Amino acid sequence: MTFVTRFAPSPTGPLHLGHAYSAMIASDMARSEHGRFLLRIEDIDRSRSRPHWEDQIYDDLNWLGLIWPEPVLRQSDRLSIYDRALERLWMKGLLYPCLCNRKDIAAAASAPQEGAPLLGPDGIIYPGTCRKINQGTDLSQNPHPRDQVLRLDVAMACRTILDPAKFQFLELGSGPGGETGTIAFTPDELETSVGDIVLARRDMGTSYHLSVVLDDAAQGITHVVRGQDLFEATRIHVLLQVLLDLPTPAYYHHDLIRDDAGKRLAKRDDARAIAKYRADGASPADIRHMVGL
Ligand code: GLU
Repeated sequence: MTFVTRFAPSPTGPLHLGHAYSAMIASDMARSEHGRFLLRIEDIDRSRSRPHWEDQIYDDLNWLGLIWPEPVLRQSDRLSIYDRALERLWMKGLLYPCLCNRKDIAAAASAPQEGAPLLGPDGIIYPGTCRKINQGTDLSQNPHPRDQVLRLDVAMACRTILDPAKFQFLELGSGPGGETGTIAFTPDELETSVGDIVLARRDMGTSYHLSVVLDDAAQGITHVVRGQDLFEATRIHVLLQVLLDLPTPAYYHHDLIRDDAGKRLAKRDDARAIAKYRADGASPADIRHMVGL
């Protein structure tokens, strides 16, 4: 099996040291395994993506000495693929429209009987308000609505998966708590620590979780290299891969580059932008040194 990995930035701001670290680890691993390093532009968030940030990504990665095959896969070219996957899950009765806004969710999740709101990979775990409203209705008779938020009924989705051995992935790096090796989980854990996640956002017609699993499969990714901040989301990705008959790649979650105060770098942290170091005269070797590679 050829080793295939990828770097998948969103063109919503400048690449910083943390991105350079992730991209270089992925590229180094591909080289040492005689495999392939691919680039993917995750630009489904049309309100925040900008062509000049995409150009800057190519420029910075070229400057760092990374090489990837063309054409680069761009998520904005694949909206019909995401829509078809949603239709498939809708027809299976696993999705429902959600009309709640952030305030509704926060209020429902902190109702006295619920205790303190629990946080999952996407923020407050959805208390299931709209699932309960739609219970008993066969939504699959009509095509899925394209102008509404669609959530996955995680409990129902898990019930369609009969083999418990499907609920696992191989971690070759480590999670934030040092988790490594075979990471197995149960449907109950998914329900309580992830909840009914959004698979289609109103403004996008898709979501990060849905697009990422479809794209990793389409690009034949065998090893996903990315930051530990996405470790918790991986269980969602495994669930979606099983539901959509996609292979589950191996994962390598790496530690995060932090600022001097120990906070992880954010897109808006322009001070750590690769372009800024370049302008200040740093070399690609300096960047490698700075991130400890
Ligand atoms: N597009 C995501 C980001 O820029 C990365 C997603 C992934 O590697 O799975 O944080």
